[in-house]
Amino acid sequence: MDTIHRYRIGSATVTRVADLVLPEIPSAYLFPDRDRSILANDPPPWIGRENASQDGETLALSVHSWIVQTEGKTVLIDTGAGNGKHRPLNPVFDQLDTPYLQRLAAAGVQPADVDVVLITHLHVDHVGWNTVRKGDAWRPTFANATYVFSDAEYRFYADEAHVQTPSAGVFEDSVQPIIDAGQALLIDAQSQPTLEGLEGFTFHRTKGHSFDHLSIGFTSEGQHALFSGDVMHHPIQIAKPEWNSTFCEFPDDAERSRLWALNHAADRHSLFFSSHFPGTSVGVVERQAGGFVWLPR
Ligand SMILES: [Zn+2]
Repeated sequence: MDTIHRYRIGSATVTRVADLVLPEIPSAYLFPDRDRSILANDPPPWIGRENASQDGETLALSVHSWIVQTEGKTVLIDTGAGNGKHRPLNPVFDQLDTPYLQRLAAAGVQPADVDVVLITHLHVDHVGWNTVRKGDAWRPTFANATYVFSDAEYRFYADEAHVQTPSAGVFEDSVQPIIDAGQALLIDAQSQPTLEGLEGFTFHRTKGHSFDHLSIGFTSEGQHALFSGDVMHHPIQIAKPEWNSTFCEFPDDAERSRLWALNHAADRHSLFFSSHFPGTSVGVVERQAGGFVWLPR
């Protein structure tokens, strides 16, 4: 079984639950419009072999969830890609069979223990374990949980014309069944940045990667965490925040949100819990020489 990395934020603990690793994503695909020679010729010191190949041509990405255990509550942030999902247009996520639920159990959590599921955005690799197949139907994996996501994001992707190819089918098998089961709480993070009964969490609108993408702040006993969703995909973007991924749907907003998240994390000395960085996926963002540096933790 994989090593379990656990972090403390005040009185809370944070644990990663891996779904899968994508070890060799072509950098020309992930960052199509940018000069990637920095990856081969002058990489920042935190880019090691776990992040990128020697020639910079391929990058590693992790797909995972975060468990936050705080004040007797078990909160899951994002739910990976899921098993058995039909993704004919996105082969890396098609008909997966990962031991995600066993890893959740190894971290001490059964699906029925999850009280709240917080979703940063409604893309294929963030909502997959929302549901599991029961007979012919997709049913909530976390039967006792309230699933929280953006109302504007939900309404936007309810229109099939707005769904990008990588996420085709996701709304039907991983989002709508949560609504139909009566387990969704749809929020407007602008007017409702906190939720009653969910002490310490704050929702921040960080749109751009998706229509109404959320980043999730967490504070306990004066210590801060930021669960930034897909404002960044890879640690090279700490040095190059102007690099959008190929999956960022609204590029100008995505870049603005990335800079917001970096500044927010640096200002508060937050522990930064990324969605897709390989290695531990966790680090601290600091300002240096007019830019930012990444200190893995
Ligand atoms: Zn993602």
